[in-house]
Amino acid sequence: MPPAGKVQIRTLALICVLMLRLIPVVGQGSASTPPEFELVIVGGRILDGTGNPWFEADVGISGGKIVEIGKIDAARGLQKIYAKDLIVAPGFIDVHTHLEGAIEQVPNAENLVMMGVTTVVTGNCGSSAGNLAEWFESISKNGIGVNIASLVGHNTVRRAAMGGDFNRAPTPEEMSRMRGMVQRAMEDGAVGFSSGLEYLPGAYANAYELTELARVAARYGGIYATHMRDEGEFVDKSVSESIAVGEQADCPVEISHFKVSSKKRWGTAGTIIKLVEAARDRGLQVTVDQYMYPASSTGLSILFNPLLFEAGGANERLKDPATREQVRKDVVNRARALGFNDLSFAYIVITAKTLRRLRVALRTRLTSTRKLTWPLTCCREVVRGWSYARCRRLMLKLS
Ligand SMILES: [Zn+2]
Repeated sequence: MPPAGKVQIRTLALICVLMLRLIPVVGQGSASTPPEFELVIVGGRILDGTGNPWFEADVGISGGKIVEIGKIDAARGLQKIYAKDLIVAPGFIDVHTHLEGAIEQVPNAENLVMMGVTTVVTGNCGSSAGNLAEWFESISKNGIGVNIASLVGHNTVRRAAMGGDFNRAPTPEEMSRMRGMVQRAMEDGAVGFSSGLEYLPGAYANAYELTELARVAARYGGIYATHMRDEGEFVDKSVSESIAVGEQADCPVEISHFKVSSKKRWGTAGTIIKLVEAARDRGLQVTVDQYMYPASSTGLSILFNPLLFEAGGANERLKDPATREQVRKDVVNRARALGFNDLSFAYIVITAKTLRRLRVALRTRLTSTRKLTWPLTCCREVVRGWSYARCRRLMLKLS
């Protein structure tokens, strides 16, 4: 991973001890021999991150850097961490995050560090900070607890270049504006270009547009990371498109949250894995990442036809009863087309940030449907016309 632009990389963060529990940190160096190391991690199982099996050794750290690995007398350390039966590993890199707006609220990133994650890649799924240089500077000002690298998001630049009118190909001027924005972001330290083709406005971009922009990132050594156009019925087409974009733009491809989401296609992951393996056999650098859990996470809008949200007009459109009915039918039909009988696979996610808003919305729902925000309106319509019991866990993400 290239250095993360202006965000300071802390070498000290390279070591983390996993298997969370309090680890005894004891003693100062003996008076007779001055300590050679700031810290000695004693007796841990070292996993060096290369794929090698673990081995037991001590780690000596000075000046924030690992300076010795082997048999080290604990007395040589000013501080010691006894790590017997614990894993000592380089900090994990989480390649798929959406930290914008969140790291500002939790700058220490305890949630990540406590899991052993010391470096994250954000700007995924086509959505990044609009001005990376400014963003890096603002989050670095008071210090943050992890290293951050960012991609430049296709949806972010497409929205900025085309405004609210994006159900079409960009004009040559808009295209060159987007190229300029990607170039600027790469010069500001972005590590690649990301797309989110199930979201607006990226859903309307064709492979040519994506290739052109990925090519700009490639000139700076960047990768193409993609939340594909379809992860369900047509997932093989999407994998092929992702690979083709990288192949033509001459850059590595990272396929985000690799899966087969359509129930009808469950059990056929072998097909898309073969596509990736074939590309790798041709010499292309194609990698994928996966959730560590059998679920996915996104906003409620993913359930609806993107046309509903064009130019921010969902609320207006939903005032028409016929449109509302059509929206309801579309959601139901889409779920059925994917092989689901209901939406019970989805969960309501309530974060502290949205809780207050959600309460207000739910209170409103009890008295008047007219005042509802569009997600709740749609939820209610879906729920009413289907089965409340089945839909009680409908995903709801207001923020
Ligand atoms: Zn995504």
